[in-house]
Amino acid sequence: MIKNITCIICPKGCSLTAEINEGIVCVNGNTCERGKQYATDECLNPTRTVTSMVRVSNKCNCMVSVKTVKPIPKGKIFETMELIRGAEVCAPVSIGDVILEDVFGTQVIATKNIDR
Ligand code: SF4
Repeated sequence: MIKNITCIICPKGCSLTAEINEGIVCVNGNTCERGKQYATDECLNPTRTVTSMVRVSNKCNCMVSVKTVKPIPKGKIFETMELIRGAEVCAPVSIGDVILEDVFGTQVIATKNIDR
């Protein structure tokens, strides 16, 4: 199977082709090794960093931006979004505060300061 992939590691955006044969990925079109690794990961174990918003319960109409500390498996994005949707936090919130522990091997943290 051949996959066409646009590398998103840097702004150059190289067009890559990845041929998967018996679990081995052969990458073409990459300008550097990072692109080769990206295409290999996309074929064998695609992951994404999830960003979203969590409700601040003690402030009216207030949300805090959050993200996963590490990328999670692409197939777990919707489950992660459900966990984030069900979460809420009390102000004050500081950048880096842990909002959710152990979400598919990582944490969800705040990316914005919210005063009391
Ligand atoms: S292959 Fe290398 S140079 Fe090309 S977009 Fe990816 S990281 Fe950038």
